[in-house]
Amino acid sequence: MDAMPLGKDYARQECSIARALEIVGERWTLLVVRDALYGVRRYNDFLIHLGAPRAVLAARLQALIAEGILEKRRYQQSPPRDEYVVTQRGLALWPTLRSLGLWGREHFGEAKLRIFQHADCGTELGPYGECPTCGTVVPVPDVLMVPGPGLDPDPADPVSRALLKPKRLLEPIETGQG
Ligand SMILES: [Zn+2]
Repeated sequence: MDAMPLGKDYARQECSIARALEIVGERWTLLVVRDALYGVRRYNDFLIHLGAPRAVLAARLQALIAEGILEKRRYQQSPPRDEYVVTQRGLALWPTLRSLGLWGREHFGEAKLRIFQHADCGTELGPYGECPTCGTVVPVPDVLMVPGPGLDPDPADPVSRALLKPKRLLEPIETGQG
């Protein structure tokens, strides 16, 4: 804990969890970060995959940039088009997101939609993001994401379809769209 003044939302909580929630506790924010870790980079792809209202998505992306969790990169000059890429600070949210997913599955019986493996050896990650075979914590770019048994095998949107293919985290998705 530190003595930094907190924002009005959790004014009475001098706690690092409360501080973190001021940044990532808004609706949609962690799902935007999740998608960015999965390799979604473009505004329209976030929009299609999340189904968030446009204004909300735009506000969340701006907030994530302001907090240094995503950064904007220009990938096309004319017309100008930007994409959103996870920073080191954003990568550091991976263990939190993975823990939330495991918790949801364990306590609310949610289906296993995706399986995360160590790309080097194919072993499924342990609960702390470690590879039980190699005995190391697996860096985010070395995590291979493969479809789990609960995943819809024929989704309607192109982003979900792109995410059916086994891929490393962060590797940009291929939607076949400009
Ligand atoms: Zn391994």
